[in-house]
Amino acid sequence: MTLHSVADLTIQLMLIPGLSGYESRVSAAIAAHLDALGLPHNSDRLGNLRCTIPGDPALPSVMIFTHMDQLGFIVRKVEANGLIRLERLGGVPERALPAQAVVLCTDHGDLPALIANKSHHATTPDEKYKVLPYTDLFVDAGFTSKTEAEAAGVRIGTPVTYLPRALALANGRIAGTSVDDRAGCAALLKLAEARMGKPGPTVHFVWSVQEEFNLRGVLPAATALAPAIALQIDLLLACDTPDMTARGDVTLGGGPGISLYSFHGRGTLNGVIPHPALVRLFETAATSANVPLQRSAHTGALTDLSYVQFMGSEGVACLDVGFPMRYSHSALEVVDPADLNGLVLLLDTALSAITSDLKLTR
Ligand SMILES: [Zn+2]
Repeated sequence: MTLHSVADLTIQLMLIPGLSGYESRVSAAIAAHLDALGLPHNSDRLGNLRCTIPGDPALPSVMIFTHMDQLGFIVRKVEANGLIRLERLGGVPERALPAQAVVLCTDHGDLPALIANKSHHATTPDEKYKVLPYTDLFVDAGFTSKTEAEAAGVRIGTPVTYLPRALALANGRIAGTSVDDRAGCAALLKLAEARMGKPGPTVHFVWSVQEEFNLRGVLPAATALAPAIALQIDLLLACDTPDMTARGDVTLGGGPGISLYSFHGRGTLNGVIPHPALVRLFETAATSANVPLQRSAHTGALTDLSYVQFMGSEGVACLDVGFPMRYSHSALEVVDPADLNGLVLLLDTALSAITSDLKLTR
């Protein structure tokens, strides 16, 4: 049994809504692929999906993880007239919300709806260039009363995401909902498939939860698996559009990459400065696999790897790896599957290159 292409898997997983804390449908789809490969898996109480391919116990064990959840909203209030107010969950870009299609995930099923945008004919000149805070926005699902909305299963606490979509663009590129991080989930599945039957270290594959919520969902899995090395797969900010050129050199279609620096000071005060031995490992692996390796360094974004690095009595050697992506956290993000294939090859090559020569001491 072989899996579909990384592009097909990405699209398939993007079409399943999975707000932070509500990842079970995405998890079930990934678990079904692991079942098809014959790989055993389990979940912890938070919902982290874990699968281990045992290897040489003399080598440092590796945990590779990627988050299943996506940002979105929670219903905060249903108005008497049936319109719905939202609370935000995760880094929601408020200026890109009006006129977006969303889905309300009720116990009775998924309901389409839209975030209302004031009728253009009634928009005043000073309103035209103003971003409304999410608290001023409302969702129209077609209901004419609160009673009607509640009968359909929409209540305070109902999870809401962008309406899942996938568009096939030129050059095989894909635009879709939550490329961050379903593309990572797809790449990790392909990596698990590629590692089957290969010698090397023990590798733990984890599809994690609640990254967009609080960056700590993976911690129980990291505690249970106690890896020596942790690698996290997520987006790298593509900088090849006019609005991003000053931020770096990462280009869409330019291959996978590594993060040399991440930091977020607002509230979290954390980030990752990668372990130098892992940077060397990936630089060497890229050369031997003939894969280009892009480099990224950014403040303003971070992943749950920031917290994993401090675990245990010796800490964990960490590196963020990723794929270029455009338009992060918007309803439609863009990825090039060629970068995802390159990422799988890079990771597979790096894992095979972990030998007793790899020293994690400083
Ligand atoms: Zn992400």
